Amino acid sequence: MNNPEDRKDFAEKISEMCNAFGRNPRPDLIGSFFQQLIEYPLIKIIQAIDIVIKKRAEMIDKDLFSAQSLPSVPEIIYEVKKILDRKKVGCVECDGTGWILSDEGPSQATARPCKCRLKAADSNQDVGGTS
Ligand SMILES: [Zn+2]
Repeated sequence: MNNPEDRKDFAEKISEMCNAFGRNPRPDLIGSFFQQLIEYPLIKIIQAIDIVIKKRAEMIDKDLFSAQSLPSVPEIIYEVKKILDRKKVGCVECDGTGWILSDEGPSQATARPCKCRLKAADSNQDVGGTS
């Protein structure tokens, strides 16, 4: 978060989260969350908070006490990191490189395009056509 506008949007999101859990969104609480999450992009923090809130809702039948507890900073960071990792890797087969190294021997280190790369090429050709 490096935009001054981010702080306002962040405070609104934390207030929304506090209200969802029946907590008072005190300025010192919002400030504490802000200081601990400042290094992460606001958009990812908002997505992560939504994920944590959704997970809480799914917990209600099993563990009412935990389901009603206010999400913590480490829980939010955990989800932010998952979102950032997913975006970076993209494809699990090639780790997002688009190429898979063949293992036909050390002297024949060749790479073949990954399925995700072929898929991307296909979808480019489909532009304007019927599918
Ligand atoms: Zn791939």
